[in-house]
Amino acid sequence: SPFTGKPKAKRWDHYITVEGKARHPSALKGAAEHLKKPGLISLGGGLPLAENFPIEEISIKVPTAPHFSEKDARESGKILTAGKYDASEGSSVYDLAIALNYAQGTGSAQMIRFITEHTELVCNPAYADWGCVLTVGSTSSLDKGLRTFCERGDVVLAEEYTYSSAVESAAALGVNFIPIKMDSEGLLPEEMDDILNTWDEKSRGARKPHVLYTVPTGQNPTGATQSATRRKAIYKVAQKHDIYIFEDEPYFFLQMQPYTGPDSPSAPPPASNEAFLKTLVPTYLSLDVDGRVMRMDSFSKVIAPGTRVGWVTASEQIIERIVRANESSVQNPSGLSQIVLFKLLDEHWGHAGYFQWLINLRMEYTRRRDTLLDACEKFLPKDLVSWNPPAAGMFLWMKVDYHKHPAASRKTILEIEDEIYLAAVEEGVLVAKGSWFIAQRGDFVPEELFFRATFAAESQDKMTHAIERFGAAVRKTFGPE
Ligand code: PMP
Ligand code: PLP
Repeated sequence: SPFTGKPKAKRWDHYITVEGKARHPSALKGAAEHLKKPGLISLGGGLPLAENFPIEEISIKVPTAPHFSEKDARESGKILTAGKYDASEGSSVYDLAIALNYAQGTGSAQMIRFITEHTELVCNPAYADWGCVLTVGSTSSLDKGLRTFCERGDVVLAEEYTYSSAVESAAALGVNFIPIKMDSEGLLPEEMDDILNTWDEKSRGARKPHVLYTVPTGQNPTGATQSATRRKAIYKVAQKHDIYIFEDEPYFFLQMQPYTGPDSPSAPPPASNEAFLKTLVPTYLSLDVDGRVMRMDSFSKVIAPGTRVGWVTASEQIIERIVRANESSVQNPSGLSQIVLFKLLDEHWGHAGYFQWLINLRMEYTRRRDTLLDACEKFLPKDLVSWNPPAAGMFLWMKVDYHKHPAASRKTILEIEDEIYLAAVEEGVLVAKGSWFIAQRGDFVPEELFFRATFAAESQDKMTHAIERFGAAVRKTFGPE
């Protein structure tokens, strides 16, 4: 581009599906451009008059940076109010008359501006013609990505253990996941290259994969975070085989402080927003010189899952396809949700305040993770259970050495997994079975035994008890028969 000196994204026509190509602009939404004409009287659209919306005003009470605790918010939180005609009356750029009406498939202009600025600050994409579109969360973003890139019968590369709902979303569209072996830093680029080099359509029953689905940071369920070096190596393999990357990053801002161990002093918090942003692993979007990445962000883990607001960042060609897909499904996230987020993020916190909120969340998740890890050090039998301290996300992935089970030669790994799972429930703790997250569906049998525990869901006190109970359940299961 003559303006930024950045290259333009590649075109993806060769991968866009029959469904993706069949999407045409909405005739009704197209007419909206004429509404800019001064004095125009519109009898064209089907937009109801705001007069008939039975909501005059909404107020939300929220914390003010840097006083983010629930107590601060409750006792001295700020009340933000959105009225019906704030924009026409000049007190805001967004109001209920706008938010409660039909809008464009991109999401409101107001939220898209905030999101685009935020993405530029955090990711600073490496090519010129990128853009963002609001979605109803990453679940919906992935559904639209799959529909745009994968035909029935296609396969997608993914971490060998992955987010089970992603596998289910793909399966419903006739798309299966091909597992890539992982280590503590997530998927292995050499394994990915090997799968692609040796792909045989006949024996695999599918054309060579052209999409990678990855959760690079605080991966669900393994908690693994890919280092910058790992990301660059994976991106290189993607370039070599012309792979398009779906980067699913709901935990990106749950990158925690370095884990220093049970008895060492903790690392000091980032001294400024700039220092905070420097601690974060570079995103695929920021490495992506080709425009081969569709990044999915979500407010679910950093504000609240029920907001049902997320966004996709990709090249303009792909953003346009997703806007079309929005037009014929959800249209856009709820206007109520958008105006609440806009009041909080843009008008109250601003970018700087939002980063402070994210630093606050980083410290909160660090404390939670450290509590869980301290409990593991104290209560888990180390000869049977091992784990890597997660650097991001909300999950601890515990490996159980099933070979030491007294009936290991007679029982299958899935039987032993079930035995431990039920023994844990008996002791009073629920953990997730590793086998729920196997990327490859069908009769695939795992070689190792894992359980997933979250440090997001319970009080610190309860988490410690929970790990004590899990330790007891493992000891019982592995005791003499
Ligand atoms: N179906 C019909 C027949 C309609 O007229 C409209 C709105 N104009 C819709 C569906 C869209 O409904 P919604 O806003 O609930 O998506
Ligand atoms: N992607 C991953 C990897 C997740 O773990 C989750 C939630 O658990 C989601 C997507 C869902 O995100 P959203 O609430 O934005 O749809």
